[in-house]
Amino acid sequence: MYVICKVDEKKCNGCKLCIWACPDPNVIVFDPDSKKISIHQARCKGCGLCVAACRQKALEIDAV
Ligand code: SF4
Ligand code: SF4
Repeated sequence: MYVICKVDEKKCNGCKLCIWACPDPNVIVFDPDSKKISIHQARCKGCGLCVAACRQKALEIDAV
């Protein structure tokens, strides 16, 4: 079991705060078409910094 971050796309407003908060590059990416972010879950280490940064409460850490 490991932890990864998930995004609720209905809540995401595309502000990109989570991208700046994430310590690793290219984990969270902005999709210019949908104007929302997506997360490369294989690269996410579950640190939770993006969850703390999101003002929309669109992110959560989940165990898989
Ligand atoms: S900080 Fe939250 S609302 Fe902003 S882009 Fe990231 S997930 Fe979306
Ligand atoms: S939990 Fe950490 S590593 Fe994963 S996307 Fe959020 S800030 Fe990046």
